Amino acid sequence: MSQISYVNGRYLPHNKACLHVEDRSTQFSDGVYEVIAVISGNLVDSQMHYKRLSRSLTELKMNLPMSVSALHSNIKEIIRQNRLKSGLIYLQISRGSAPRNHVIPNLIKESVVITAKHSKPNGGKHAKQGVSVITTEDIRWKRPDIKSVSLLPNVLAKNQAAQRGAFEAWLVESGGKEIVIEGSSSNAWIVTQTSQVVTHPEGVKMLSGVTRNRIIDLATSNGIQVLEAPFTVTQAKAASEAFMTSTSSFVVPIIEIDGHKIGTGKCGPVTTAIQTLYNDFTKKL
Ligand code: PMP
Repeated sequence: MSQISYVNGRYLPHNKACLHVEDRSTQFSDGVYEVIAVISGNLVDSQMHYKRLSRSLTELKMNLPMSVSALHSNIKEIIRQNRLKSGLIYLQISRGSAPRNHVIPNLIKESVVITAKHSKPNGGKHAKQGVSVITTEDIRWKRPDIKSVSLLPNVLAKNQAAQRGAFEAWLVESGGKEIVIEGSSSNAWIVTQTSQVVTHPEGVKMLSGVTRNRIIDLATSNGIQVLEAPFTVTQAKAASEAFMTSTSSFVVPIIEIDGHKIGTGKCGPVTTAIQTLYNDFTKKL
C-alpha cells in the first residue's frame, strides 16, 4: 500500500506531496506543527493537540485556514487512507508561500500538511529497557513554548546525544544554575529519593507536552503526587528514577544521565506505575 499525504486540500501519493519551493516554512521556519499518536486507529488526546496548535498559531499571528472540525476530518481521512492502526500523525501549518521577504505579506494563505507514519505502540523496547541521556546547553530561542518548526537547536542536541550513544539530550538552562528545562523532543522528569515526581513548570521556557499534561492528570488522580518545579542536573543524577515523556515514545525510563547510573539502572517502580496508568488510558480511547 502506498502512503498518502495531505497537502492544501489534496490527498496525494507521498512522493508527489510537495509544498511550493518558496513556502515560508523552508525559508524562515515560519510555521508550527503537532505530532499526534494513533493507537488502535484512534487519535490520542487530539483536542489537547488542537488547543496547543491554536495557541501556537495565535502567538505567531497565524490562522488555521479551516475549522478545527474540518482539520479533524482531514486527519481522520489520512488515518483511513493509510490504514493507520498504530503510529503518528504529523500536522504542519506554515505561513504559506510568497516571494522571499522577511516582512510577512498581507495576502498570504497558510499551507497545511498532514502525513502518517506507522510505528509500534508503547515506545517499543526503550519503554522496557530504558535509555541514556546526555545534558547539553539549551541554545534555543526564548519562545520554545510555541511549537514552531524551527527545530535546529533540538536537532543538533539530539544528534549530539546520538553521537555519544544516548537516546535523548536534556537541555540545560544557560546561566550556571544547571536547571534541566526539557529534552530535545520530550519532557524531562525525575523521581526523588522521597518518591516525589518532579517536572519543570510550564511557561515560556519549554513546550507544554500533551503527554506530560495527561500524565500529571493521571498520576495525581491515582495518588501519585507531582511537583511542577525546576530541578538541576545534580538533583537528576541523585534521583531514584528518571524518565521522559512524548507523543512518539510515551513514557520512557532513563537509566543513565551523562554516563552516571540512575537508581538501580533499571526502570523503577514509580516509572512503571506511570507507564501502566498511561497505557491503560490509551486502551480506553
Ligand atoms: N518538548 C519538546 C521540545 C518536544 O519537541 C516534545 C515533542 N513534541 C515534547 C516536549 C513532548 O510533547 P508531547 O508530549 O506533546 O509530544
